[in-house]
Amino acid sequence: MYALNYVRPGSLAEAAKLLAAHPEAKLLGGGMTLVPTLKQRLAKPSHLVDITQLPELHGIRAAKGRLEIGAATKHHDVATSSMVRRAVPALAYLAGLIGDPQVRNLGTLGGSVANNDPAADYPAAVLGLAATIVTNKREIAADDYFQGLFATALEEGEIIVRVVFPVPKRAAYAKFPHPASGYAMAGVFVARTGEGMRVAVTGAGPGVFRWREAEAALAKSLRPAALEGVALDAAELNEDIHASREYRANLVRVMAKRALGKLSGRK
Ligand SMILES: Cc1cc2nc3c(=O)[nH]c(=O)nc-3n(C[C@H](O)[C@H](O)[C@H](O)COP(=O)(O)OP(=O)(O)OC[C@H]3O[C@@H](n4cnc5c(N)ncnc54)[C@H](O)[C@@H]3O)c2cc1C
Repeated sequence: MYALNYVRPGSLAEAAKLLAAHPEAKLLGGGMTLVPTLKQRLAKPSHLVDITQLPELHGIRAAKGRLEIGAATKHHDVATSSMVRRAVPALAYLAGLIGDPQVRNLGTLGGSVANNDPAADYPAAVLGLAATIVTNKREIAADDYFQGLFATALEEGEIIVRVVFPVPKRAAYAKFPHPASGYAMAGVFVARTGEGMRVAVTGAGPGVFRWREAEAALAKSLRPAALEGVALDAAELNEDIHASREYRANLVRVMAKRALGKLSGRK
């Protein structure tokens, strides 16, 4: 690891000022992704700006059909929140599947959504629920936010403050985890929203994506069998030592059917 400055601002405005003053600074969330990157000398920030204590980035609130979660909220706190469990049980369930207890007790919602790992879980819920990413500068719809492999609409110096999830009529998540890391080999988040069905897939492609053909099929029937024969182009999916494209395409279909199976009888 290179020598660097660790700073802990007292407010969101102070954090933004630090980023503006030091273009090589990096925000520090739970450090679950960033710290290993530093240890491997893959990044060399001048400052680590620790935003985990900022009051503006904390809190879980539910009102008027929305669930708002502060960016510094840890995965464990989402998984065990009675408010999240009541409003969007599938989101609490998803958070409880992330990594291991150590990762869940340090990793944050904002860090995960900012990082946008193609196999991360939260992006599937954020896209599947048509959430809004609220930063210190603007609000970004999930459909505009995720831009492929580790790429997002975030600009330099932009800080995720919270994520606002519209409460769906029902939602469910099914994931096939990598046995070593727990990351998704394929994860499918299915949501029945006021605007229709949404199906978001993580782990299988170069970034989270909506499986629109499945959404169209589910508009006619919510039975898992409705997904038989629905187009999913394996050529667009990832291939590595863990799984071929075709295997991942099959996993996506299986996970989508499992999620649909769970949808019945759940919110
Ligand atoms: C062993 C292991 C297993 C894991 N398994 C899973 C898994 O199964 N599923 C899964 O989804 N994830 C998994 N993760 C990743 C984990 O969820 C991390 O929490 C997440 O990737 C990053 O969150 P963080 O809070 O630790 O962010 P950090 O590592 O602190 O930061 C990550 C990036 O986001 C930026 N950032 C942080 N917060 C903000 C913010 N508020 N606004 C803007 N930018 C910000 C940082 O500058 C950095 O670039 C795993 C990690 C490990 C180490």
